[in-house]
Amino acid sequence: MPQPDVSGVRQTDASLDEDVSAWQVALQQYDRAADKLDLGSAVRDVLRNPKREVTVHFPVQMDDGSTRVFTGFRVWHNVTRGPAKGGIRFHPRTDLAEVRALAMWMTWKCACVKIPYGGAKGGVTCDPKSLSARELERLTRRFTTEIADMIGPDSDIPAPDVNTNAQVMAWMMDTYSMHHGYSVTGVVTGKPVSIGGSEGRQEATGRGVVYTIQEAAKTIDLDLRNARVAVQGFGNVGEGAARFIAELGARVVAVSDSRGGAYNEDGLDLALVARHKQETGSVSGAPRTRPITNAELVEIDCDVLIPAAMEGVITERNARGVRAHIVAEGANGPTTPEADEVLRERGIMVIPDILCNAGGVTVSYFEWVQDREEFFWTIDEINARLRRVMVRAFEDVHRTAVEHDIDMRLAAYMLAVSRVAEATLTRGIYP
Ligand code: NAD
Repeated sequence: MPQPDVSGVRQTDASLDEDVSAWQVALQQYDRAADKLDLGSAVRDVLRNPKREVTVHFPVQMDDGSTRVFTGFRVWHNVTRGPAKGGIRFHPRTDLAEVRALAMWMTWKCACVKIPYGGAKGGVTCDPKSLSARELERLTRRFTTEIADMIGPDSDIPAPDVNTNAQVMAWMMDTYSMHHGYSVTGVVTGKPVSIGGSEGRQEATGRGVVYTIQEAAKTIDLDLRNARVAVQGFGNVGEGAARFIAELGARVVAVSDSRGGAYNEDGLDLALVARHKQETGSVSGAPRTRPITNAELVEIDCDVLIPAAMEGVITERNARGVRAHIVAEGANGPTTPEADEVLRERGIMVIPDILCNAGGVTVSYFEWVQDREEFFWTIDEINARLRRVMVRAFEDVHRTAVEHDIDMRLAAYMLAVSRVAEATLTRGIYP
């Protein structure tokens, strides 16, 4: 079982700009859509606020016998369209405001691709790199217990995010099941296939990113064969996206992680880079590459840029330097609103996060459906259904953008926010 990628813990030149809070970014993006949709003030306020926020402080016994107290969060932004859904992040800089932003983005993402879920997110402020596997397991199990009254297959279904993986989901599922006295597979998604996980979930986000890039490339007549691609972040999303786009004949010229990047203008040997990362903990220094920084990667000469690491990496400071024709947001919130405006002015097509990286939650939904039916689909069925969802969502967003002469982000938000607003108005305000 692969261990979580715990390398995303060093602050680098590409980490979230201190001045830019993810929550402020999320609110600005929402307000722009709410203005355009002319939402009534009541529904506008409802959707602007998270429904439920829980902060827990909990002790974990460390391997040396000492006890440390950790802080974790679970936020439901909105559950009008279905159960809360969203990943769990382990990161030293994770705080309530970041989790709240990520939860709101999940609400819009599920609505954007028409998956019947609400939006949630969770996280624990910790440096997973400094924890042993046993400590990580104890932390996961205790955190799961602390939020046990929120999660459940009918109420709230966590999944992997930064620094969490299928093994972490297995511990969460096992802990929840132990409390109930029977196996509850549908409480989390992104589990190993051996305990009710879905074929194709691990690579679903990266695959979905590439499906949207294929559609975007058609609209600007970009031939992906031989297109040059740069990918920031070489974890679940970034590595998958790099691999799938290379399979289409594109040349992945640069990849990076929290410790730095690797560049080769003729195209990287991704298997070699992955092996180097496994052996050394970083892509930096991989054979037949020259090192580049994360800052250089954003401004590299390429056709497609895939930010697939953290928030706030394309800002007003570097947006003028972006040379790609397409920016495909594998990560959540990688572009600030100011940078968005610069990219818009410069005619760069941004495939917004709530569309671009929705392949993960889409196959998570398939996993949950399979768990509930206890009937499992083949990888071909899953990938075909994933493609249908992503292509249809891209077409909806692109058509809306063309019809209203607006950018793809605003179009995606208008569709998503109006769907959640409609559901809210249809249900009415209780009591
Ligand atoms: P991961 O932990 O598997 O990988 C993260 C990668 O980013 C690692 O290679 C890490 O070294 C790198 N990284 C961390 N900080 C960095 C920095 N400051 N500069 C450059 N690289 C840095 O995480 P993941 O699951 O691939 O998630 C990446 C992004 O995609 C996050 O924004 C996450 O919310 C989003 N996302 C993930 C999924 C999913 O299914 N896992 C789905 C949708 C969106």
